[in-house]
Amino acid sequence: MTHTCPRCKQPGIGGLAKRWSSRAVPAKCTACGGLSHVLASTTSGIWAAGVVLFVASLIGGVGLPSGLFFCCGLVLMVACNVWAWRRAKMYPISEESASGANKANWLIAGVAAFFGLL
Ligand SMILES: [Zn+2]
Repeated sequence: MTHTCPRCKQPGIGGLAKRWSSRAVPAKCTACGGLSHVLASTTSGIWAAGVVLFVASLIGGVGLPSGLFFCCGLVLMVACNVWAWRRAKMYPISEESASGANKANWLIAGVAAFFGLL
């Protein structure tokens, strides 16, 4: 499954590349080589919705003797996830700001590790 590139409007972004894209690690278009990413709020929103559906189906599955409710919940969770990722909008990002965000991430990780050692 491929997604439309926000730069050249060609289906040059791979499904997995889109899922794992962020400001620091953008997805690369195979058609034009341009970088783009999904907003972090979109990514976390999709994960949060998935967790909520999973917990809801788990609770329902425990309450009911049959596993049907749990299976339905899982199917719904996967369907919502696929649908949300298909709808998720991609934003173009320049190579400079991508590497800048990457550096900022490393800086934050470094500071966090530093405080973790204290
Ligand atoms: Zn492109």
